[in-house]
Amino acid sequence: MNPRIRLSHLPTPIEPLSKISQQLGGPNIFVKRDDLTGIAFGGNKLRKLEFVLAEALANGAKTLITVGAAQSNHCRQTAAVAAKFGLDCILILSTENPGILEANSQLDSMFGAEIVWATREEREGRAAEIFNQAWSTGRRPFMIPLGASTPTGTLGYLEAFKELQQQEFTPDWIVVASSSGGTQAGLALGACLMGSEIKVLGISIDHPAAELKVIVATLASVASELVGEKLIVTPEVILVNSDYLGQGYGVPSDREIDAIRLFARLEGVLLDPVYTARAAAGMIDLIQKGVLKKGEQVLFWHTGGTPALFAEQYKRYFV
Ligand SMILES: *Cc1c(COP(=O)(O)O)cnc(C)c1O
Repeated sequence: MNPRIRLSHLPTPIEPLSKISQQLGGPNIFVKRDDLTGIAFGGNKLRKLEFVLAEALANGAKTLITVGAAQSNHCRQTAAVAAKFGLDCILILSTENPGILEANSQLDSMFGAEIVWATREEREGRAAEIFNQAWSTGRRPFMIPLGASTPTGTLGYLEAFKELQQQEFTPDWIVVASSSGGTQAGLALGACLMGSEIKVLGISIDHPAAELKVIVATLASVASELVGEKLIVTPEVILVNSDYLGQGYGVPSDREIDAIRLFARLEGVLLDPVYTARAAAGMIDLIQKGVLKKGEQVLFWHTGGTPALFAEQYKRYFV
């Protein structure tokens, strides 16, 4: 088994969303609170970082480098973990407004991360340059790809699936926001390896379904080798719905705003404007269409991201 460094507060709770279930009149909905994984306001990246940090330290890393959007939750969690373990952290953040520190990027800065601004197109290229510079100046950099969605990071969500089994909760469906794919890949791999009937439905945040299925299936297959299995997970068995991409990444529509209001006002649960609101909006629509049915149990896997609610671009929807 790959080495793991415990970072998260586990197991995260499972709670019923009774009032939302009642209002929608469909399945019984529950929420898995991975927004409560602990460090730095929590979120799904901590589970992946438990394995990726162990890999970085085994490689003698002194500096973690990663990439994301200005409101990246992954970058925020990486910056916090770097601080906790005495590592330097360099973040390449894409934005149209360089230099503005707010919400997640404010937190990045508070954790002492060095921030390099770039456009979305430049991001990966800049990261490679900065890696080479850091290497040549003896900073022992370790590159964590977007979202920590490597086969190693995927193991965090394989463990999360096992955690769900230990909580003895067997829903018909898991509904989860899916973007760089590691979260869904780990859960889907868990379901395959344990012979579980649970259907793991990824609501795509920013990819056409066909593309995301390949990303998730590939991660799941390669991750299976790390645990001594040689599973070939094909894209056909990965469930992805990409009907809710709207105006693109990070741009909420009325659906997302309504979902955030519903969760806040009926359950006192905060969704984030980029990921979980889109996934929840998708879930609500699929209930209204009868895809997720009365009599079934649905586990909405909350992946975190709530600090983004305080970014100027989102705050205005809610005040
Ligand atoms: C990164 C992120 C996701 C997507 O997880 P992936 O493993 O990248 O697919 C979902 N929700 C939140 C809040 C995230 O930060």
